[in-house]
Amino acid sequence: MKKGKKLDGVRKSAEAKRNAVRAYPYRCCVLCGHTSPLQVAHLDHNPGNNAADNLAWMCPSCHWNYDSDLLPVKAIRILRRRWQQTNGVHFRKGPKMIVATGKANPFCKSSGAGQRTETVLAFLANGPRPNSEVRRLPGVRSTTINTLHRRGVIKYRQAR
Ligand SMILES: [Zn+2]
Repeated sequence: MKKGKKLDGVRKSAEAKRNAVRAYPYRCCVLCGHTSPLQVAHLDHNPGNNAADNLAWMCPSCHWNYDSDLLPVKAIRILRRRWQQTNGVHFRKGPKMIVATGKANPFCKSSGAGQRTETVLAFLANGPRPNSEVRRLPGVRSTTINTLHRRGVIKYRQAR
């Protein structure tokens, strides 16, 4: 009996994760923007309710704060939508952008990462190129390319 209950809990949490991945493909803590480790929070505190609207990605620390009722659910919903709209890229005035994930900012123009981004974007200005060509760009690190690709900023053709 006990074992069955436990298995049921495992199945439920797998379902929560599946639904969250589908509904909120950009994965970061909705509160602080950290991208790992992540948990799926139930906004109504009921682990059996895995409707997409009841789920949000949170880091363990923010999850704890949320479950302690320190954070209004309304704010969570607004932030959740915002992260999905922006894919983690937040706009300030004009073309200047900041990324709130606490990692190197690939859009900060005065940084090396920003300059590498410019190089990649200039190279892809006339459309997608094969992955292998993008990766051979002089002075461009593969982490920059990976980040831009993951955020949907660039697209390249997969090499056959
Ligand atoms: Zn957090």
